Amino acid sequence: MATMINLVYLIAAVLFIVGLKNLSSPRTAPRGNLLGAIGMFLAVIATLLDHHVVSFGWIFIGIVIGSGIGTYMARTVKMTAMPQMVALFNGFGGMASVLVAGAAFLEMGQVVERGGADPDWQWSLALVLSALIGSVTFTGSGVAFGKLQGLVNEQAVTIPKKYTKALAAVLVLISLVVLIADVSSGFLFFILVLSSFALGIVLVMPIGGADMPVVVALLNSYSGLAASMTGFVLGNNGLIISGSLVGASGLILTMIMCKAMNRSLANVLFGGAIVSESAKAAIPGKEFYEGKVKQSDAEEVAMILESVQSVVFVPGYGLAVAQAQHATHELADLLTTRGVQVKYAIHPVAGRMPGHMNVLLAEAEVPYDQMIEMDLINPEFSRTDVAIILGANDVTNPAARDETSSPIYGMPILEVDQAKTVVVIKRSLSPGFAGIPNSLFIKDNTLMVFGDAKDVLQGLIQAIKEL
Ligand code: NDP
Repeated sequence: MATMINLVYLIAAVLFIVGLKNLSSPRTAPRGNLLGAIGMFLAVIATLLDHHVVSFGWIFIGIVIGSGIGTYMARTVKMTAMPQMVALFNGFGGMASVLVAGAAFLEMGQVVERGGADPDWQWSLALVLSALIGSVTFTGSGVAFGKLQGLVNEQAVTIPKKYTKALAAVLVLISLVVLIADVSSGFLFFILVLSSFALGIVLVMPIGGADMPVVVALLNSYSGLAASMTGFVLGNNGLIISGSLVGASGLILTMIMCKAMNRSLANVLFGGAIVSESAKAAIPGKEFYEGKVKQSDAEEVAMILESVQSVVFVPGYGLAVAQAQHATHELADLLTTRGVQVKYAIHPVAGRMPGHMNVLLAEAEVPYDQMIEMDLINPEFSRTDVAIILGANDVTNPAARDETSSPIYGMPILEVDQAKTVVVIKRSLSPGFAGIPNSLFIKDNTLMVFGDAKDVLQGLIQAIKEL
């Protein structure tokens, strides 16, 4: 039976890996998702067949409650609230590892009491790491959720975090070392979990709310590591493999996000705000734009679009806020029927979570082959008649390329200013995530159309139809 179960875990692991590979392209992603889900289904069945399972009643109740809550949340969550939803799930994953570690600890105590052998240090190491990483993930994700949801003040750090951090770290270290040597003290296990809870809070609390998506990706990696450690505790190969895959892919995603923002992970975790307080003072205000912005409207843009051959849409966070993906696709279709070549430029950190724009556009059934990644679309902008910027800001800011003094200097951008005409659709001249002015808005070839992206697009569609 054990060989059979391990064989099923192996098949599940292969399905996870092939599924992950498929997720790397939007075209094959649905298949990747399905393969991963089949792998997980097999792993769950194999686990249920394990002789350790004594009662299916509780498992059944858990599945019914969990599926009900999961289905409700997935159906009602807004696209812009996805990062906090993922934060919650990571937190639950971390807590599950803590609970399993706690149960394994109690069970181990009973075994020893009955005269069984003491566990070896490797098992103890896995147990304490599972409790430590799981606890940090749980409270860290809770703080991340609170910041993203606006429940916790973005900058709120009223606790003397330096000392709390040091105290929590020392307690974690002491209990960790003692427990690895002798895993018998329930009190120390309790201290380990409590101090790890505190560590999770003080580690995430000082990080700016806007950096939370990167933190969520990192915590996702932690939840995988905690699960992997739990796999060692339970001797469950399926959990070890799937936890490691989550741990590795979460870390890779974190690094990709940092790279696309031109920031180091250390800078995100310990560097405070994206723009320091002293740099903030040097940032120009509204005077940056005074007398230099050319305002336009839907009618004028419609006339420009009447005689063009190529248009590139550049979606950003504002597209998600306005929920303008369907209107964008409708305009794209209208232009295509008039012989215009249409593409969408995708920046890796446009929006507020990885793949945000791909997901939004896919929801509006934009064909995958029209969504072009930054490196591939950038050389095309100089041959593009009109680039239409839909609620994107930082990811199009030429300062990141041209101004060495800019706080975002070095961040790769979409080179939209190379297009013959640039139409920027947003509600005002307010800055984006980085909080700095955008020199794109004062370029000679840029026209600003102020308004909610969806409203402007609908006006544009109307105006084109009336031409
Ligand atoms: P930005 O945050 O730079 O800008 C978004 C713009 O959208 C704002 O300037 C806002 O201007 C506009 N906007 C908001 N609501 C609407 C609306 N209803 N209609 C039209 N426009 C609207 O977004 P980008 O996508 O360009 O850049 C993403 C930023 O987020 C980058 O700095 C990136 O580093 C950061 N980030 C991204 C993560 C990711 O994983 N994707 C994770 C963490 C950070 P106005 O108010 O004038 O309308």
